[in-house]
Amino acid sequence: MEEKLKILVVDNNEVERIAVYLALTEADIQIDVYQAKDLSSSLSVLERIRFDFVFLDHSLPEQDSLTLTNKLKFLGIKVPLVILTIPEKEEIAVKLINAGATEYFFKSEISSATLPMILRNVRRLYQTETKANFAYQQLTRKNQELEQQQQQIQWQNLQLVEASKLKSQFLATISHELRTPMNAIIGFSQLLLRPKFGQLTDKQTDMVERILNNGKDLLNLVNEVLDFAKLESGKLEFRSEILDISQIVDNTLTEVRTLAETKNLSLFVDINLENTLIINDPVRVRQILLNLLSNAVKFTNAGSIWVELKEQNQDMITITIRDTGIGISSQNFQNIFEAFRQVDQGINRQYSGTGLGLAIINSLVRIMGGKILLESQLGVGSVFTVDIPRQINLPPSDLQYSSNISNNGGSCYNHTISNPKPSDLNHVVGNPHIKF
Ligand code: ADP
Repeated sequence: MEEKLKILVVDNNEVERIAVYLALTEADIQIDVYQAKDLSSSLSVLERIRFDFVFLDHSLPEQDSLTLTNKLKFLGIKVPLVILTIPEKEEIAVKLINAGATEYFFKSEISSATLPMILRNVRRLYQTETKANFAYQQLTRKNQELEQQQQQIQWQNLQLVEASKLKSQFLATISHELRTPMNAIIGFSQLLLRPKFGQLTDKQTDMVERILNNGKDLLNLVNEVLDFAKLESGKLEFRSEILDISQIVDNTLTEVRTLAETKNLSLFVDINLENTLIINDPVRVRQILLNLLSNAVKFTNAGSIWVELKEQNQDMITITIRDTGIGISSQNFQNIFEAFRQVDQGINRQYSGTGLGLAIINSLVRIMGGKILLESQLGVGSVFTVDIPRQINLPPSDLQYSSNISNNGGSCYNHTISNPKPSDLNHVVGNPHIKF
């Protein structure tokens, strides 16, 4: 140790103080030694001078050694504090170490020969402790910061949940309010088209039909938004009853047939079920079929659409809807099942729609305990396969369902298919197709 060290020796016993002083001065070290005999004189010197070491006797009267150790900490005076003790009073030294002293030595160990090494070791120990304390404080601060951030995130999450609830409520209210006038527009245009309300000219008939068709489109759109809002807020109601799925398929095909014929598309159906009765909600089953069939018609410009129903096993039935349409690239397989996602999101897109249909039916199928599989290839066609239990297992019929519809991935499995041909279907089913 080259620099001149400032050392304070605190001991009420003058003989012992001098013994330490002598050992220090005789050691081969450059030092300035200060002496104090009690608590107050040592504190007053410690407040004025910055020491390199303090040697403190373990037993100043009236526990003043402990008071001094505590005070140093309290006043923020940082100095390596060496306790000098005797073997019989070791426990006091340990107490002082616990209160913040750096190290203790027996007085018998102190000599001019040992002091240089003692000072070096104490300084090293003190520096290590200081570093450890600093790291600990940093860590505590970081932890506090993290806790604050976590609280902030929790608070933001709560706000998001609240905002999403408000949005769903708003959507539900607004679509509910829109349905009443839409139903009136549809109802009155249907009445106008009835001959008993008077003969319309061809031009008038054409106009009323347009009002009717646009009204129906708008009502479908409003219904989709309403379903979405209900699914998001967990307020969608399900019925479960015995129904004939072949009838629902027939009715749904009737709904899309006119549009398919306008586009010169062939529709094929193959109901390969031993038992066509299932237990499910007829409205929701129709919705699933209608969405997939309308999409197939919408996204197919030439060729055919096939609907196939078969038993996968005793408890599951499989509905497959296959088209020779524009197809979907594999990178969009997941997206299109998310709410408001369409392959073409541009303003000038060719195909109309909200991008809600698949998100809704994917949620419905999941609630039913089934899954939707998608196979598709761009420019070739798509196959949507829906597996649903023959009997949906819902808790009490008036229960409402919540589904994470906004992030709806998960129940579709993605593959690419080679060109779907009628012969593929023949191969799978082996039954003649009924043409519509
Ligand atoms: P929408 O039809 O109202 O746009 P959907 O959720 O039903 O919403 O479908 C999302 C998107 O998935 C469509 O916009 C389309 O890009 C794609 N898609 C769905 N079905 C087909 C299909 N049969 N062929 C090609 N693309 C399809």
